[in-house]
Order: sequence, then structure tokens, then C-alpha cells
Amino acid sequence: MKLSRSLLLTVFSLCFLTHLSFAQNFDDIKKYNVNYALARINSKKPVKNISLAPNNIDGIDAFLAIRSFTANDQKYILLVNPNSLDTKVDLANKYSLSSLQYSNVLAIFKNTAYVKSLEAAEAKDLQLQNAGIDHAIPNEKGITLTIDLCPSHKALDRIIFQSVFDEFKKIEQPSPLAVSVSGKWMLKHQDDLNWLKSLVEKKELNITWVNHTYNHQVNKLPLAENFLLAPGTNLDVEVLENEKLMLKNGLTPSVFFRFPGLVSDKTIVEKIEAYGLIPVGSDAWLAKGQQPNSGSIVLIHGNGNEEIGVKDFIQLLKTKQADVKNKQWLLFDLRQGLEKEFE
Ligand SMILES: [Zn+2]
Repeated sequence: MKLSRSLLLTVFSLCFLTHLSFAQNFDDIKKYNVNYALARINSKKPVKNISLAPNNIDGIDAFLAIRSFTANDQKYILLVNPNSLDTKVDLANKYSLSSLQYSNVLAIFKNTAYVKSLEAAEAKDLQLQNAGIDHAIPNEKGITLTIDLCPSHKALDRIIFQSVFDEFKKIEQPSPLAVSVSGKWMLKHQDDLNWLKSLVEKKELNITWVNHTYNHQVNKLPLAENFLLAPGTNLDVEVLENEKLMLKNGLTPSVFFRFPGLVSDKTIVEKIEAYGLIPVGSDAWLAKGQQPNSGSIVLIHGNGNEEIGVKDFIQLLKTKQADVKNKQWLLFDLRQGLEKEFE
């Protein structure tokens, strides 16, 4: 009896998953917009399948919707759990939506990890490099690993991901890390992207996908006019077209944003936050000789252009081998680190 019940459940979940992957084919996204709304689940039944435990506002389970779009003649929304910082794409008609201005979002969700992270990132927006959150998880032993995939002609440094998996497979599986993707990298490296996705499917890695802009422009001008600060930059293209491309490639955009070159100014940090995105910096860019400490957000480039950073990282893993085995040096999920910091 028990067996047949669990079999039935398995069949049911398989159908559900198949249906989902069919429904979530986002080849042709239209009307992709920043659209803030309080999203309450229509059904009284708890929503299954989600790492998203809803936020309770005035006794009502609610998420925050930050984007809306249509695909396959259906309306979708991108939802954020403001406590866990998880994101999810879902059909809009499963929710009652009340539109919000960005200022309302900040007010309504002010006690959540989401708004506290936005505020913490904004408080650090004065410097020209490395604005945003650059350190998470207080009092924990380990780091948060972020890997940037800027446009590149070279192949992905698969050894980074392989080494993380090899080192942590008996300790933390799937191993959490964040990958910042640029549009131009995704367009040129479909095989590498599919390989990364296969590691996620095999539950070897748990990847938080971070927006790293569509074009990731870089020029020969001083930093104040370079990267996203370059004259003529179209932020809607850089932010929203990149998210559309992420969705088309089967990646769920997270609430995080990494500035190309880690370069920004106060105005652009405010503009990026108005898209509902939390800028993430790094206090340990390994190729620049910055040493990681407990809770560091470590940055390496995985696009084949940063041999030193990759070498330093492999070396770092080696020196921490014993600590990893004793669970004294772990990898932390960016989302959980911030949730913990601001709980
Ligand atoms: Zn970059």
C-alpha cells in the first residue's frame, strides 16, 4: 500500500516537472517589464515544489513580484521571496497581484533580508570600485564564491567548478556558488553554459545566477567613464535584455547584480537598485592579491582570462583541504548568507 502510494506520488511529481519544463520555454519573451507587485497565492493550499517559503504580511502569505512578461501566450511573473532571497518564475494567474511603486516595496518589506540588503548595498555606493555588498555571513568559517563570466573568446575554466565539486562532494552537495553571466558570454559559449546547467541538474552544484549585464562594455577611458559608466549606456538593454537571455537559456535570474569591472557611482547604484537588484561586490578579488577571510565574497573570473585568479583559487582549496574535511571551511550560498546577516 505504502509502496504504491509513493509510486503514485513519484509519477505525479514527474508529470508536474515535465509540465513545468514544457511550460517554461522562454524562447520568445514579450513585454518584459519591471513591474513590482505584492503577490498573494490564490489557492489556500500551500505551494509545493518551492524552496520559497512565502513571506507573511498581515497574516497573508505574500511574495514580491519584480518582473512581468508574456511567453507562449501566457503571462508570467518573476517572484522574490524577500526573506530567503530565492527567486522563481511562475504563471501570473496563480496569484492575486497588487501593483506597487518601488518606494512602497522598500516600505512594505522593510524588515526583510531583501530590503536590508538593498539598503546595505546603497550605503556603500560612494566609491568608484566595489560598491554594494562585499562581505556576507558574519562569524562563519568559510566564504561565498562568485565567478564572473565576462565576454571572452576563451573557453570556460571548467577546472574551477570541477575542483569545487571534488573538494566539497562529501561535505556539501550540491555546493553553492554564484555565477555572474554577461549576455555576450552566454551567446558565444552555449556548450559551456549547458555543461554548467548539467552540473546543476546532477545536483553537484547549486548556482545562483547573477546579472552581469548584456554587453559588459569596456573601453580605454578612465573608470569614471568606463564599463556601465560609459557614455551612451542603455541600462534597460544591459539589465533587462540580459535577464531575457538568461530566461531563454533556462536560468532563473536572482536578485543580485554584479557591476562589470566592479565599477559604479552613486547614481548608477541607485538606478540598478530601482530595478530591484542588489549590487554584489567582493572583498577578495584573488587575482588582485586580496586575501579572503571568514565571510568574504571571493571573486574569480572563470572566462579563461584570469589564469592567476584560478591558480590562486585552486591553491586556496588545497591549503583548506583539512579544514574542509572537518567542516571548518565551507562554501556559503549568497542568499543564505544575507538572510542570516539580516534576520
Ligand atoms: Zn565582468
